[in-house]
Amino acid sequence: MKLNRPIPDSPDNTRADALRQSIAAVRQGIAEAADRAGRQSDTIRLMAVTKTVSPQDVNTAIGEGITLLGENRVQEFFSKREEYLSPHEVHFIGHLQTNKVRQIVGAVEMIQSVDSIHLAEEIDRVSQKKGLVTPILLEINIGRQETKSGVLPEVLPELLERAAALPGLRVEGLMAIPPQENAAYYFAKMQELFIDISSKKVDNVYMSTLSMGMSQDYKEAIQYGSTLVRIGTGLFGSRK
Ligand SMILES: *Cc1c(COP(=O)(O)O)cnc(C)c1O
Repeated sequence: MKLNRPIPDSPDNTRADALRQSIAAVRQGIAEAADRAGRQSDTIRLMAVTKTVSPQDVNTAIGEGITLLGENRVQEFFSKREEYLSPHEVHFIGHLQTNKVRQIVGAVEMIQSVDSIHLAEEIDRVSQKKGLVTPILLEINIGRQETKSGVLPEVLPELLERAAALPGLRVEGLMAIPPQENAAYYFAKMQELFIDISSKKVDNVYMSTLSMGMSQDYKEAIQYGSTLVRIGTGLFGSRK
């Protein structure tokens, strides 16, 4: 555990102020969407997605009580993480190559982007070697987009069954990045899959997290049962 140091004032206070405002606005947006869906807003976690964001901005967010960070890139994560203030939790959300699994297992609290049996098996192997059980989400290519990662919905039952049998893993839910067009349609499909699997009560499968919704569509995702929204641009501004 790192020490929980006080957060130094940013030399660029206007930037920090703007950041605080956008954090407040997103929290407000989550609360309103939850209200509309008849849900408690504390059933929805806000993740700050940190790709290309400076550690200083990440620390401003942590200072505002953001406790969950999403990392896409292994190298970038390792170059920044020493500078991050405590307390925070990190989930890996980017495409993970099997040769980077050794670095990531044990360095993050969850891997959200498990999109093949091969990757699941490698995470299991490394986790067991390190004496860990790694919480994972299965990433679904719900829009069947050729350029996107994730398993196709019809492959999910097989991946789920195989992953559930691996002692170094703990399946905690599903993740998706739906197409921007007709996002609501795909969120509804994800919710269906999520409910369907939850009702089956498979051993070693704990459907607690449905990770969907980004800056453009998180309010819609909340209407369809998202329990974790992943926000980059909406908090930190557009990426260079
Ligand atoms: C970049 C990214 C996000 C955040 O996207 P924004 O549109 O900037 O909010 C969420 N999830 C994943 C997997 C990402 O790569």
